[in-house]
Amino acid sequence: MIKRQTTINRVFKLSGIGLHSGHPVNLEFLPRREQGIVFVMQGVHIPARYDHVSDTRLSTLITEGGISISTIEHLMAAFYYAGITNCLVYIDGPEVPILDGSAWEFYQGMWKAGVYEFTEEQVYLKVMQPVEVRQGDAWIRIRPLNTLDITMTIEFRQPVGMQRRRVTDVENTFSILNSRTFTMQEEIEAIKKMGLAKGGSLDNAVVIGEDDVLNPQGLRYRKELVNHKILDLIGDLYTSGYRILGKVEAHKSGHQLNNQLLRKLFSDPASYQIY
Ligand SMILES: [Zn+2]
Repeated sequence: MIKRQTTINRVFKLSGIGLHSGHPVNLEFLPRREQGIVFVMQGVHIPARYDHVSDTRLSTLITEGGISISTIEHLMAAFYYAGITNCLVYIDGPEVPILDGSAWEFYQGMWKAGVYEFTEEQVYLKVMQPVEVRQGDAWIRIRPLNTLDITMTIEFRQPVGMQRRRVTDVENTFSILNSRTFTMQEEIEAIKKMGLAKGGSLDNAVVIGEDDVLNPQGLRYRKELVNHKILDLIGDLYTSGYRILGKVEAHKSGHQLNNQLLRKLFSDPASYQIY
């Protein structure tokens, strides 16, 4: 477990297109002294924190002072994996680039930049009593445990069906990190009609057709889809501002429920301890 606060060892840049806008976006990562990940756009600082999340329909979107940035979740998961607790992310567009649809390139960038360790201890969040949120047949709950332990179940039409995965050693389970975002073929048209997914292609998303995956290379893992839902969850949980210690069980949970779980957790001081 990482004991101290960390930031990136040197400045680095990344560019790509936004999944929904289709526009090029540039990111510049700078070291930060205080704990937390903060985006900067047009001079406005937007903390990557659950209480700044204002839309969760297709991605996690944060807002501050009239400025919004969407699709922060894969980048947040990369910070979690890289063990980085403090960073400033300058961005020149309203959407974090989708890259290959996973957190892999973000993580690579951080790994190459290196990690700088401060003397200050990292502050953790420990879950002290069970918290659960539900919507229809989807739910997510978190219970006290001394490590982060995640079990995710998803259910989609065939050929996906039900997939379940439990990850007990999150930080060392790298198959989560490069598992890509996905969509059902029939949903693409509806999403495009909403003016979204303009940058979407088989290069940055897995598309599930009637009987098989449409991407010519197929899946990266047999459980790539449930892996990606775990990636989203790790990114969303990191918007708590802390590494969370607790046992998480999720059934068909997405960005909205993930955010509601954090809001409910923080609404009762008896539910958690910061230490
Ligand atoms: Zn995702």
